[in-house]
Amino acid sequence: MEYLYDKQVEPGELIEVADGVLWLTMPLPFELDHINLYLIRGEGGWVVVDTGIGTSTTKALWEHIFKKLDGPIVGVIVTHLHPDHIGLAGWIADTFNVPFYMSQTEYFTARAFAAGRNGATVDRDVQYYQRAGLDEVMIAKLTSGDGKGYSSVVSPLPISYTRLKQGMVLSLGDNEWNVMIGRGHSPEHACLYNKKKNILISGDHILPIITPNIGAYSTEPDANTLDDYLDTLPQFKALPNDTTVLPAHKLPFIGLHERVDSLMAHHHDHLEALQIACERSQTVVELLPVMFKRKLSSRNMVFAVAECLSHLNYLHSKGIVSRTLNSEGVFEFKASEAKRLS
Ligand SMILES: [Zn+2]
Repeated sequence: MEYLYDKQVEPGELIEVADGVLWLTMPLPFELDHINLYLIRGEGGWVVVDTGIGTSTTKALWEHIFKKLDGPIVGVIVTHLHPDHIGLAGWIADTFNVPFYMSQTEYFTARAFAAGRNGATVDRDVQYYQRAGLDEVMIAKLTSGDGKGYSSVVSPLPISYTRLKQGMVLSLGDNEWNVMIGRGHSPEHACLYNKKKNILISGDHILPIITPNIGAYSTEPDANTLDDYLDTLPQFKALPNDTTVLPAHKLPFIGLHERVDSLMAHHHDHLEALQIACERSQTVVELLPVMFKRKLSSRNMVFAVAECLSHLNYLHSKGIVSRTLNSEGVFEFKASEAKRLS
């Protein structure tokens, strides 16, 4: 793998990665402190690909970018529903009154998250963490929110959209972008490939150095998102290995095939380690150190539990581990004697 730049673009700056493709970044108030966004030339102006989180800092940076461009914004594409990607999509799309592109599952899931709990109790979230084996104090901490976390960092979503689908060709001005759907990190994540330029905008589906979070969250505790992820990665090996990959975090790179292989290997290593650890019965909480070597903050705990569970759900679906609910209401996972990971 080879990086095309040695450092991040500065917030407020634009770097032309290829003719008609600009790279910019927005700060994030997390451990992962930035997101990469892209502008691609469309008919009569620029199409935004992902937007940054919905804060006044990001808005101010966008205002600055708008002034720098040689044309207006003519469309907004969002790869997936996570707040760092979709945060200002509504604000930009409605300010310029332009088409808003997203896959169907991502769009409607975003609308649902933006609506919050809508009066429903938090009991199912509590049960999800109890079954993982978290203690009461941590569960209270993780479930005490008012359910409005998402909409506090995502500006009101456009109430109509243009649907992106696997295999479709999106024509923007003179450019054609093939839509490739990746699942697992989010339900129907759109990646964009331009054959002529040999550029892949990979969003969070394929990242360098860091691995995208693959989780089974409280909304769908039995989700087999790891299977979805491993299922939708190999298609990218059909693209040329010298494709320029523009990820949503860290630096643009070349070496797509190698990266796909190492992401697959990373998850297989985790699955194997979990299988070994489950020689005796284990809860999700007991298994966290198998996958995460550092101490986890409460924010990271949410991602860690979900990531560990997605791997266990994968093993469970294949009959490699069994799952039983113990007398305390906690799931225990145990490796099968008969069936091993191949
Ligand atoms: Zn994401």
